[in-house]
Amino acid sequence: MASGRMLSAFRKLSITARITPYRSLSTLVLAEHEGGSIKTSSLSAVEAAKSLGGDNSVSLLLAGSGQSLKEAAAHAASSHLSISQVLIADSDKFTYPLAEPWAKLVHLVQQRGGYSHIIAASGSFGKNVLPRAAALLDISPITDVTKISGSNLFIRPIYAGNALSTIRYTGSSPCMLSIRATSFPVASLPADSKSDAASIDQVDLSTLDEDDSVGKSRYIKLSSQNAERPDLGNARIVVTGGRGVKSAENFKMIDKLAEKIGAAVGATRAAVDAGFVPNDLQVGQTGKIVAPELYMAFGVSGAIQHIAGMRDSKVIVAVNKDADAPIFQVADYGLVGDLFEVIPELLEKIPEKK
Ligand SMILES: Cc1cc2nc3c(=O)[nH]c(=O)nc-3n(C[C@H](O)[C@H](O)[C@H](O)COP(=O)(O)OP(=O)(O)OC[C@H]3O[C@@H](n4cnc5c(N)ncnc54)[C@H](O)[C@@H]3O)c2cc1C
Repeated sequence: MASGRMLSAFRKLSITARITPYRSLSTLVLAEHEGGSIKTSSLSAVEAAKSLGGDNSVSLLLAGSGQSLKEAAAHAASSHLSISQVLIADSDKFTYPLAEPWAKLVHLVQQRGGYSHIIAASGSFGKNVLPRAAALLDISPITDVTKISGSNLFIRPIYAGNALSTIRYTGSSPCMLSIRATSFPVASLPADSKSDAASIDQVDLSTLDEDDSVGKSRYIKLSSQNAERPDLGNARIVVTGGRGVKSAENFKMIDKLAEKIGAAVGATRAAVDAGFVPNDLQVGQTGKIVAPELYMAFGVSGAIQHIAGMRDSKVIVAVNKDADAPIFQVADYGLVGDLFEVIPELLEKIPEKK
């Protein structure tokens, strides 16, 4: 009788265990830093970690070397209330964020920390590091997550954003995610939060293999965008030019307009392929995903692969000389007209920045 009751209680227990696989949550966020500050996209990854559950302990992993790493660690420690620990890997191996040493670092830190989740923003850094780290840990990552519905239940877009798929992770721990930063906006910090800084701890790198610190990729150079312009991924306003702009020379008009209104410049793949602008400005399925307050598209037809990268923008303005261009189906404001007349007029009418 007693054993029957115990068996039934055990069955109930094992069912509960299957439904909630993580008894306690602990998340490792892989973070990027630049100029002594943690990047906003990495703070979005912390925001995503927060939505996994209330009792989640969040550790942030930063790697690099020298003074800029120290400054970034100090900044990270007081940058988000959900961060309980900042782990820093200080070594020349991490001076540049190469995927191979980073993947080994993630493997090492995971072995020591036994985290239930590992999260990175799905920019070039995350896309580079996560698959390698997942292979070392023998797990399968879930990419481009836009919504977290539970500690093992995630939503991600498929078919260039035309459908959403809900995924339940049933693999072994850790559950590894890349998240779309635009889907997890960072809440601003309360004014008195500086005093709640997280602890900063060094990662012991003594067991990281010296010999194979050089992987299959090597650092050549950093080509940075205009530092005075907002970052395309996080800008409040984006001005995008498409093939309709017709040349690199004409694209200067887009630049000028962006400068005048404090916007980042974006481009379609057709504009990039035609050599009007470098490919780090490409918005879309195979470019950057943006969700600014205002998105202005000039000479952009509105192919689904482009829409996939900007459809979450709050207000979309499109100027195209073809009234049937698909961009008008997603635009809040559309103007059928010639961009070579509209942009000069806008430049003339918008007052100079003070
Ligand atoms: C696998 C895959 C991935 C892709 N990924 C991306 C991606 O990430 N991002 C992306 O953008 N594309 C991507 N593409 C390409 C995409 O399918 C389109 O080819 C591309 O977006 C078209 O760019 P566009 O709108 O600049 O050019 P077009 O489609 O050629 O449109 C140009 C528009 O300019 C208008 N125009 C011309 N002159 C003027 C004028 N004087 N004034 C006003 N309007 C004018 C025309 O009416 C036209 O609508 C991808 C394609 C594939 C197959």
